[in-house]
Amino acid sequence: MSVDNSTGSTAPGRIVIENCAIATVDAGDTEYDCGHVVVAGNRIEAVGAGPAPAGLERVVRRIDGTGHLVTPGLVNTHHHFYQWITRGFAQECNLFDWLVTLYPVWAGIDDEMCYAAAQGSAAALLRSGCTTSTDHAYVFPKDGGDILGAEIRALAELGMRFQPTRGSMDLGTSQGGLPPDACVEDTDAALAATAEAIDRWHDASFDAMVRVTAAPCSPFSVTPELLRGAAELARTKGVRLHTHGAETVEEEAFCRERFGMGPTDYLESLGWLGEDVWMAHCIHMDDSDIAKFAGTGTGVAHCPSSNARIAAGIARVPDMLAAGVPVGLGVDGAASNESGELGTELRNALLIARLRGGPGALTVRQALRLGTAGGAKVLGREHEIGSLEPGKLADLAVWRVDDVLHSGIADPVAALVLGAAAPLTLLLVNGREVVEHGHLSRVDEEEIARNVSRAAARLRAK
Ligand SMILES: [Zn+2]
Repeated sequence: MSVDNSTGSTAPGRIVIENCAIATVDAGDTEYDCGHVVVAGNRIEAVGAGPAPAGLERVVRRIDGTGHLVTPGLVNTHHHFYQWITRGFAQECNLFDWLVTLYPVWAGIDDEMCYAAAQGSAAALLRSGCTTSTDHAYVFPKDGGDILGAEIRALAELGMRFQPTRGSMDLGTSQGGLPPDACVEDTDAALAATAEAIDRWHDASFDAMVRVTAAPCSPFSVTPELLRGAAELARTKGVRLHTHGAETVEEEAFCRERFGMGPTDYLESLGWLGEDVWMAHCIHMDDSDIAKFAGTGTGVAHCPSSNARIAAGIARVPDMLAAGVPVGLGVDGAASNESGELGTELRNALLIARLRGGPGALTVRQALRLGTAGGAKVLGREHEIGSLEPGKLADLAVWRVDDVLHSGIADPVAALVLGAAAPLTLLLVNGREVVEHGHLSRVDEEEIARNVSRAAARLRAK
């Protein structure tokens, strides 16, 4: 909030962006070839064709958006920040072999390492146009300290809107699960820690910068008791639920052998389908599974790069969209997607969908919607973020599309989705500048790089 010295008013200052192409990603896919966006405080005040209204007061910044495309900030619906310091391992593994290789490494993480990893993860997200991210933290070693608190501190310093989850695992190898016993928690302790995280940090307000989610890890690392207990807890507290589902054929086989049904039916039997639930991946889904997701409003975090990295398969995203399933994009943990950038997932989602479903499987505008309004819906924040509309929060990206790599492309949305990663001139979160001309505004990037390097070395030395 700025003070206008001429009037003594404490009304919020305005940022005016003009002369830019705009893709609002509203319900009607409204676009402007040359338009304006006015931000007042942390809200979008106006979006439209031509120049901004004349006579606006308290304008603290006016941006000439010539040669730029303005979109909503991207929304990341699945990640594991701690993996930022375990990138480059298990490069040729499928999911279960990759996990078994990495679990013992992850058993050594602590809050200081997770602070550095969250800084690195958020830097990659912000620099690729992402303004809101979730994080699925599910490894909590006994002597690991305040891991969730460290992540929340890191994201606040970088200026990102955050939806951390308190994840958990309680099914170790001695009980027939995949993770080593040293990586799992006691069921009641995990539920108590989840309740504590919600009480400590969850903010239900419209412009919340932190919302907490309950997130037991996956069917092969969590007991039915923990899944059921987490669902009851989340519904009592009024928070959302998140987990992994139907990621690989090995997970499908595990569920059929242990529970006598596939992962979607298993999760449904524990109260885990509903409009307050979203799941990562959902690759191995038959028509009945997709119908259940659509019928209950259960959301999907589609992670094309990670799915390709570990050769898990191609999710049926066009079929899900046709059925009415809410779908957003995720980068997934950086140990299975070393890039960690969300901007490039727009392109990857489109390309992978077309490999399975042909050239009409996903349009560039559908890809942009997955990464913006789709993600907002999946996180339960569709009334607050995900599109450029008056009254919504001022989370937006100003992409340059007239540079040497993009100038001349016929359609600015195609330039963003199909072209090279577009330079980001400005990124606003909650009306505040967090990226300017491709670099973080609020934290020194070189210091983050040094922190990450030190944390990764310390973990490897354990
Ligand atoms: Zn994941």
